[in-house]
Amino acid sequence: MTEEAFDVTVVGSCMTDLVSQAPRLPKAGETIHGHKFFIGFGGKGANQCIQAARLGAKTAMVCKVGKDFFGENYIQNFKDNGVHTDFVGQTSDAATGAASIIVNDEGENAIVIVAGANMLLGGEELRGALPAVSRAKVLVCQLEIRPQTSLQALRMAQENKVKTIFNPAPAIADLDADFYRASDVFCCNESEAELLTGSSVANVEEAHRAGQELLKRGCGSVIITLGPQGCVVVKAQGSSSKHVQTTAVPAVDTTGAGDSFIGALACYMAHYPTMPLEEMARRANQVAGVSVQTVGTQKSYPFKKDLPAALF
Ligand code: ADP
Repeated sequence: MTEEAFDVTVVGSCMTDLVSQAPRLPKAGETIHGHKFFIGFGGKGANQCIQAARLGAKTAMVCKVGKDFFGENYIQNFKDNGVHTDFVGQTSDAATGAASIIVNDEGENAIVIVAGANMLLGGEELRGALPAVSRAKVLVCQLEIRPQTSLQALRMAQENKVKTIFNPAPAIADLDADFYRASDVFCCNESEAELLTGSSVANVEEAHRAGQELLKRGCGSVIITLGPQGCVVVKAQGSSSKHVQTTAVPAVDTTGAGDSFIGALACYMAHYPTMPLEEMARRANQVAGVSVQTVGTQKSYPFKKDLPAALF
């Protein structure tokens, strides 16, 4: 069992994206020829972990994959990115999470996600992963695994004085109130903020308001990401709400931009614990801004060596 300490531990999902590009989406019962196929690594938990690792954080992933080709392949992907894999479990009871994606020439898509092994990550695995959770500087969770597992992980972290980032994605309208209290930083995008507050979040002003509303529910701070407009940072301390602007860039593929932002934020929180959250958010904006300029999810995530030294 590892005695190592980690900067960032992520408890969350792994998904293999199976992407077919075709002239159009097939109808029920129809078989059509596509022109391109590729396999990508995804899943919000894994994405965030890989981005943190690429920025130089010492990372561990706590997740479950199948005892299958995709599971083996995913473990190798973690290793290739320097992520610690002792707490990546494999099961014969379900397949590795997969997203079958068809994209037509207009860029529209049809997606079937089968969470599979991700849903079998539970309390037993978390207890086994205590060394990775309790000896991390920052723990990150999302909602692509069983919500109870995420909540349990956040609580375990807090009991061990580990800072927590919770990303309520994909959002559920009736999120258990305990999630807010278990989040040092509660970080979501506009549509998630909208679902959680029941109010429109379509501009910076509305994001400030939604952030204040989410903060009241008990988290330490709230960040709402706003695509090319950067993000809004709302802090309980000093009850401040700031719009952290970014340089808007022409986006080629925004898939996983939010995960890049969160992975970067986790890395900054671990490396610079006294840095103001707004400054961490400003830097995370820049990292995520790089990720939208090339195609792919993890494939588009920058490495520390490719970024300006001023970001570190
Ligand atoms: P999600 O991927 O969850 O929908 P957003 O669209 O809010 O999240 O994007 C996350 C972050 O990515 C933003 O806060 C911003 O930092 C960055 N980003 C996204 N699109 C752009 C863009 N066109 N130009 C610059 N930064 C961007």
